[in-house]
Amino acid sequence: MADIELLLDLHKNAARQGPGGEAETRLAIAMSGLSGRRHLKIADIGCGTGASAITLAKSLHADIAVVDFLPGFLKELERRAKAEGVSGQITTLAASMDALTFEPSSLDAIWSEGAIYNIGFGRGIRSWRQFLKPGGVLAVSELTWLSKERPAELEDHWSREYPEVDTASAKMALLEAHGYTPLGYLPLPVTCWLDNYYRPMQARFEAFLAKHDGSAAARALIAAEQSEIDLYERFSAFVSYGYYVARKLPD
Ligand code: SAH
Repeated sequence: MADIELLLDLHKNAARQGPGGEAETRLAIAMSGLSGRRHLKIADIGCGTGASAITLAKSLHADIAVVDFLPGFLKELERRAKAEGVSGQITTLAASMDALTFEPSSLDAIWSEGAIYNIGFGRGIRSWRQFLKPGGVLAVSELTWLSKERPAELEDHWSREYPEVDTASAKMALLEAHGYTPLGYLPLPVTCWLDNYYRPMQARFEAFLAKHDGSAAARALIAAEQSEIDLYERFSAFVSYGYYVARKLPD
């Protein structure tokens, strides 16, 4: 089985594919100022199985285009949206986040939890901006240093894996440099990583390994996930996802 198929198999029955939480999505919605408005058009990019999209659909009067390059996640999202009674608000789009084809200035908001790193924060905020209406909202979560100084081991790891990791003030400066004004910042609490993401993932490890009996690739995937979990547990005081909510400024 190809690595991407294995990844899909490990993650597709999960409520989420990255750290986050319903309460935190709702806080970001509150910061966005979109509540109470009607006929909103929103894109949720790198939506996975729909953790944020379903909360958005329930909270806002909005049509939501959910984008992911793995159709297996979109299929599961469709099933969930139906079960939650919000499928009428959701349109699925199997596409890559670096080749989006929304009309220019057509979206009231772009949402993206735990996914913009796939093309990098800088590239993402620059290339997605054109799709927002003037005054449209960008809400993304992104790997963030919680302090100015970090243990070297942690710094080495994330600088290698994701060189754009930075402090919240640096991320906000980047938003300002690229035509946005920050509306809010929220560092995700430990529960978003452990209770909502890592513990449920660990609970799937045994069945996953049994299913892919003897596969070196399956074992390697679990080992990589576990070592990321170990690192997070040791250094959770220094790193998290930051949720950034920003408004597009006029050109
Ligand atoms: N937002 C979801 C999923 C986060 S995991 C949640 O918080 O639960 C990151 C997601 O980005 C995965 O669903 C993955 O399939 C998707 N992804 C990764 N690279 C992508 C790309 N280039 N284009 C579109 N989606 C991508």
